[in-house]
Amino acid sequence: MTERAVRLIVLGKQGSGKGTQCVRVAAHYGIPHISTGDMLRAAVNSGSGLGARVRATMEAGELVSDDIILEVIRARLSEPDAAGHGFVFDGFPRTVGQADRLDEVLAPAAIDAVASLEIPTEVVVARIAQRRTCASCGRVYSLTAPPRVQWVCDFCGGEVVQRADDTEEAVARRLALYDTQTAPLTARYRDLGALVPVDATGTVDEVAARLIAAVDARLAADEVGA
Ligand code: AMP
Repeated sequence: MTERAVRLIVLGKQGSGKGTQCVRVAAHYGIPHISTGDMLRAAVNSGSGLGARVRATMEAGELVSDDIILEVIRARLSEPDAAGHGFVFDGFPRTVGQADRLDEVLAPAAIDAVASLEIPTEVVVARIAQRRTCASCGRVYSLTAPPRVQWVCDFCGGEVVQRADDTEEAVARRLALYDTQTAPLTARYRDLGALVPVDATGTVDEVAARLIAAVDARLAADEVGA
């Protein structure tokens, strides 16, 4: 594997398997998995000032302001594991405005690849109804693939629960927002030549294999072009 920093974004609507796949990708490339949703949930759970500012917005399934998100991202990227080593972003950027501001934060470096997990909405609605999440570390389970011990996280021992924003109403709101605000990001990164579409149907292993092969091809093309 190359020693270069790998800077990735994974896009995909709620329930596309994005969180699970980001964990795989992070382990494969040896880079931190940076999930803005997980960081904001941790802030809410810890009762921090940031948590108090974002709680109501998150529970309604609305987007937190770009200013708050960029503040969280800048702080995270300054930590030693991310600074200079690369990352995989999960749930960020969510809007074209956030993507523009990310470019400024990263300059003169740039994003290497943006994988877009492609999956029909009917499939994700069914998946989200079944989804259960560790309240401490954010690992994702489901009613059909629960933790080994009833609702205790296999990785950290945290409590595995249904997310407060996985109600039918909030899910519908988030899927609509994805279409209007996040889908335009695919066009932006396609125009920049960084977009890697990935078929996200099938098992976790199948999707992970496709995703890593597609990102590797993109990184190799970049090296040839560099
Ligand atoms: P997620 O876990 O990615 O589905 O995020 C859960 C919630 O956190 C979202 O519905 C938003 O309220 C908030 N959130 C996470 N990431 C972002 C972001 N990049 N921009 C705005 N809001 C975000």
